[in-house]
Amino acid sequence: MKNLTKIDPEIYQEIIKETNRQKNGLIMIASENFTSEAVLETMATVLSNKYAEGYPDKRYYTGNQFIDNIETYCIERAKKLFQAEHVNVQPHSGTSANLAAYFALLKPGDKILSMDLSHGGHLSHGSKASLVSQLYQISHYGVDPKTETIDYDQLTKIALAEKPQLIISGASSYPRQIDFAKINQIAQKIKAYHLADIAHIAGLCVANLHHSAINNADVITTTTHKTLRGPRSAVIIAKSELAQKIDKAVFPGIQGGPLEHIIAAKAVCFKQAMSAKFKKDQQQTIKNATTLAQTLLANNIRLVSGGTDTHLILIDLRPLKITGKQAADILAKANIYTNFNVIPFDDQPANNPSGLRLGAAALTTQGLKETEMQLIGQTIADILKNPNTENLQNKAKELVEELTNKFPIYQELSC
Ligand code: PLP
Repeated sequence: MKNLTKIDPEIYQEIIKETNRQKNGLIMIASENFTSEAVLETMATVLSNKYAEGYPDKRYYTGNQFIDNIETYCIERAKKLFQAEHVNVQPHSGTSANLAAYFALLKPGDKILSMDLSHGGHLSHGSKASLVSQLYQISHYGVDPKTETIDYDQLTKIALAEKPQLIISGASSYPRQIDFAKINQIAQKIKAYHLADIAHIAGLCVANLHHSAINNADVITTTTHKTLRGPRSAVIIAKSELAQKIDKAVFPGIQGGPLEHIIAAKAVCFKQAMSAKFKKDQQQTIKNATTLAQTLLANNIRLVSGGTDTHLILIDLRPLKITGKQAADILAKANIYTNFNVIPFDDQPANNPSGLRLGAAALTTQGLKETEMQLIGQTIADILKNPNTENLQNKAKELVEELTNKFPIYQELSC
């Protein structure tokens, strides 16, 4: 970064500090991951300079011959990776992808049935705080209070009573597999569209480690930066009969010029996600999350739904008498990064809820395996049970230092 160092030392310094924070901590935020150096290199290119409104061979600006090639590579790879009929690779983010999909499928005032935010759903699925709730009529399904897994009977009942035009499946803090086929059948019964938002589990899905949403949804949206390990962005996957509607909804519907440097980086991510190594890493991610869950359970930490089938775990902190924010802050002091999260039937507010969400994706990218997950699980359990014990926090810091030295990430990036 020889130019940035000279031109803007303030920003350069902050980038270096953030690089070091990521390298010297345990990133256990379930929605985060380490993208590859190849993806990072691609994002920092002159592709960022180019206006390319429109689609390959149908642009509103000249000079797009190479951009067209790049976007076509991205589309073709995405179609192969997701076994999809049509993919739009232009959405800037998961929220933009969802908004575009709603715009393509619905009219203002139509009804959406989606998972309750506090049961694991996402803000963009129609939470009161989102624009989505002002445009559409929202109802929610949730989890069964006993099993804390999706209550498909309740979902069916609400679907039959409300007759929504769209059912959304997919979640942000749900640790179990989602039965997309079952939800698709319910949607078909009431002639609703089914949108599966696989943002969190996309990496697991393409590695065939999660029930498939392909052929079990009309539209699939996903971010590309979570288990998929790509740049911060998203795509929309659709059946070919919906292709035109989706494309028009993305551009000119809700976006202008696409971010071609990010589209190129998504193409690189998709190539990497087709490798045998990626599949192996996704298997390891699940093994790591399972080991972490087992270690926490062995220490009498309560997990929502009793465990995990995926990369993420949701701890119910109520028996420990600490809040999610307290827990996340204490762990961050030991350089263990997690996030506070609402849990099903939480009676605490979203800014200081009763849950803590953990993920194993980034640690797995870094190379950690079951042995390390046991050590980390034990450390987290000790700290959560004794939040004010300085000695335990120092021990945790030592473990983090040992592990990050043993499993370095981004060795070529300066620090
Ligand atoms: N959908 C789900 C299920 C998510 O978990 C998230 C983000 O965490 C999103 C959509 C939104 O993605 P973005 O932050 O890129 O808008």
